[in-house]
Amino acid sequence: MNDTSHAAKAPALQLSDIRKSFGTVDVIHGIDLEIQEGEFIVFVGPSGCGKSTLLRLIAGLDDPTSGDINLNGKRVNTVPASERGLSMVFQSYALYPHMTVGQNLSFGLENLRMERAEIERRINDAATLLQIDHLLGRRPGQLSGGQRQRVAIGRAIVREPVIFLFDEPLSNLDAELRLQMRVEISDLHSKLKNTMIYVTHDQIEAMTMADRIVVLRGGNIEQIGRPLDLYNHPKNKFVAGFLGAPQ
Ligand code: ADP
Ligand code: MG
Repeated sequence: MNDTSHAAKAPALQLSDIRKSFGTVDVIHGIDLEIQEGEFIVFVGPSGCGKSTLLRLIAGLDDPTSGDINLNGKRVNTVPASERGLSMVFQSYALYPHMTVGQNLSFGLENLRMERAEIERRINDAATLLQIDHLLGRRPGQLSGGQRQRVAIGRAIVREPVIFLFDEPLSNLDAELRLQMRVEISDLHSKLKNTMIYVTHDQIEAMTMADRIVVLRGGNIEQIGRPLDLYNHPKNKFVAGFLGAPQ
């Protein structure tokens, strides 16, 4: 056997020359990216630049046209979404309106044929963490926007994913709630220490939440770096503009 005792740990996520076309339209142009375990990565870029598509490829909701996706050193191109150990939180909460909050949280786990006691434990842990214990018996229609978004995050947490994927989760909320939820998601990352990939077009979210920001433009990575490094040393006006840096 090879001596791997000194080998560096495999990245949580590694994308190698990922491309995606829809018909004749090339949307992702060959993306290489390594994300280390526990990092909070933010994807920013203009509408239509491929942020959601890239997230869907990572999640396994869509297949790349070419390139490799590795999770913890294992190629997962052909691994179905449900077996990748990832949880995705969308901008539209996608809660089931006819189910209670508790049922919304347990639904995905029941499909995994998990034991009831384990489901209860996970729901109680997530509800405590997100302070939604008192809402478990309500239906989504009886919740505020912020409460609904907490439930959507709760549904991601109960799966105990290795990576969380967030696609503009706060863009439907008003400014005050967005600020509050931004702090809560950052707190969640401090507590859970999971790898998180967070898509936004909000420069304040990017600057305050990210360990590293990935700036996307037209299906390519324009620049990657720590928020202040990008802010102080943007590669060009496009990056500067995106981060609200002086140009
Ligand atoms: P973003 O999330 O950055 O706004 P998207 O990833 O949603 O961008 O979309 C990137 C480009 O890919 C857009 O031009 C969009 O119209 C196109 N696109 C996304 N999904 C599909 C699809 N299923 N079929 C055809 N084109 C698509
Ligand atoms: Mg999008």
